[in-house]
Amino acid sequence: MRNTRISLVLGDITEEDADAIVNAANSTLLGGGGVDGAIHRAGGPSILRDCKQLRASTLKDGLPAGSAVATTAGNLAARWVIHTVGPVWSDTEDRSRLLSSCYTESLRVADALGAASVAFPAISTGVYRWPVEDGARLAIEAVRRCDSGPIDVRFVLFSQRAYDVFSNAVREI
Ligand code: ADP
Repeated sequence: MRNTRISLVLGDITEEDADAIVNAANSTLLGGGGVDGAIHRAGGPSILRDCKQLRASTLKDGLPAGSAVATTAGNLAARWVIHTVGPVWSDTEDRSRLLSSCYTESLRVADALGAASVAFPAISTGVYRWPVEDGARLAIEAVRRCDSGPIDVRFVLFSQRAYDVFSNAVREI
């Protein structure tokens, strides 16, 4: 493993001063609730404009789960927003590979952009109902496995509980 620095932050990802922040988007890329809504609200209309352009050109069918794509970041401190689509939790089907792929694909996109730092939310653990313990473990393992991409990786957790769960996962892995 190369020298990736993983850190945990309790807070709002829209305020994170990283080169790129990752959005847990939905496959339409046209906005939603949760962190997606917060990023579009804080970043202003240019992010949605970029997303619509992608939908009209290279992503006519939307962005599939596990994939990632970058736009500009409007008024945010970050330079780029990397949109990724987490899988919806399923009680009957193992979709872990898709969730891991959100992290590795986002890091690949960040690396291609030349981002030195990237901030992630806890993808899929909100409306998509992924249990945060499992989501945290998958997130940290995926980032640690990656041998390209930004060396400064931050997980920005929106609740004390999510922060504590990620802290435990970092200690255990
Ligand atoms: P998903 O549909 O992928 O589950 P959500 O936005 O519903 O996406 O939730 C993903 C995670 O992002 C949840 O843990 C939620 O608490 C968290 N979250 C919501 N708003 C923010 C924010 N402004 N900054 C960081 N994390 C956030």
